[in-house]
Amino acid sequence: MSSKKRVVILGSTGSIGESALKVARDIPDRMEVVGLAAGRSAQALLAQAAEFRPRAVALHDTAELESIRGRLPTGTDCHGGPEGLIRLATLPEADLVLISIVGTAGLAPALAAIKAGKALAVASKEILVMAGEEVTREAARHNVPILPVDSEHNAIFQCLTGEPTRHIRRLILTASGGPFRQTPAADLNKVVPAQALKHPTWTMGRKITIDSATLFNKGLEMIEARWLFGVPMSQVEVVVHPQSIVHSLVEFVDGSQLAQLSHSDMCFPIQYAVTYPERLANRLRPLNLAEVGSLTFEAPDPEKFPALRLAREAGTVGGTLPAVLNAANEIAVPAFLEGRILFPSIWHIVEAVMKRHSTVEHPSLDAILKADAWARATAGEEVAHRQIVCP
Ligand code: NDP
Repeated sequence: MSSKKRVVILGSTGSIGESALKVARDIPDRMEVVGLAAGRSAQALLAQAAEFRPRAVALHDTAELESIRGRLPTGTDCHGGPEGLIRLATLPEADLVLISIVGTAGLAPALAAIKAGKALAVASKEILVMAGEEVTREAARHNVPILPVDSEHNAIFQCLTGEPTRHIRRLILTASGGPFRQTPAADLNKVVPAQALKHPTWTMGRKITIDSATLFNKGLEMIEARWLFGVPMSQVEVVVHPQSIVHSLVEFVDGSQLAQLSHSDMCFPIQYAVTYPERLANRLRPLNLAEVGSLTFEAPDPEKFPALRLAREAGTVGGTLPAVLNAANEIAVPAFLEGRILFPSIWHIVEAVMKRHSTVEHPSLDAILKADAWARATAGEEVAHRQIVCP
């Protein structure tokens, strides 16, 4: 019986953060929450702090922080701004830091956690997409594990237990296909945000739900897999699996494939990352395949979903190009959600920004952040060109 893991959750008020807290409630003898951080949801953070009584909390929005400062439990420190996230990521009491902040704000705390010798559980794919080379190099240098929380990568991680990289022929990521799997390409122009936000199998934050509808989520995951498992992009593939029961597969050089299956509930991968390398009984709903009935698979449609092609290109070229793809998408998605651009403009904008970028190879963190800022500004220009003009 091993001891309790002391966990910091960055992004605790979001969809992944809430699931992580469910896991903490389910296995209290093995998971202790020692830090919680959010963007601006002060009241939700306060309620979480009252329940879990962590060592410290952080809120990015310092004005909101003032509204809860005096109401935190005794013994809970509080910090504000980007510096607050770093304080939490390096908390002396923490063994494991879960990065579940949407967007790029998780990158600096992830690197700080690694340098402080903390094990990292990564849900925020942006971190490895932007700076996979740097993050994996630093983790190796400080001898800290990167435990994947994204369900697909967690599935691959489970299938690879005890297998060397040379045994891998292909990593096969499953994709639900999103809400528009059966929508004709010509109709994608008419898609409105409410339709794109209706994911067929997963309940997630707004950004990742739109990314699932364009398949940029799967594209980002391809790049994430390349770094997490140390294989070239040519060995990372995607298959559409609408039931979201098989979370991903590994094909080995002898032709055997292993898959990991469960209901689509992020508590499964989060718990595995927390208890790894052990497994622990829980109260999650077990899978009954006879009830599921059938599992189906199909090839993705590259014409309808150019995100996969763009991500493969970015991941293959490498350097600053994946950060550019990610940043341009982060500008295009809210523009679509605000009704300023059409749905297909999301990938048109990303492609246009990628074309305008001069890639820097083996970039420093500074070069990555510059490319990120450049891509955001350039994507803003592209949004303005494609702005929907109301009659
Ligand atoms: P949500 O939008 O639901 O939650 C985002 C969280 O990040 C919130 O707690 C938010 O706080 C916090 N946050 C945002 N900006 C900052 C900041 N600057 N500083 C500190 N905290 C901040 O997102 P999800 O939980 O859906 O996704 C989180 C990450 O996990 C994403 O990278 C996503 O791609 C990845 N992921 C998500 C999955 C899912 O099932 N949801 C599955 C696999 C990966 P606040 O509430 O205050 O705004």
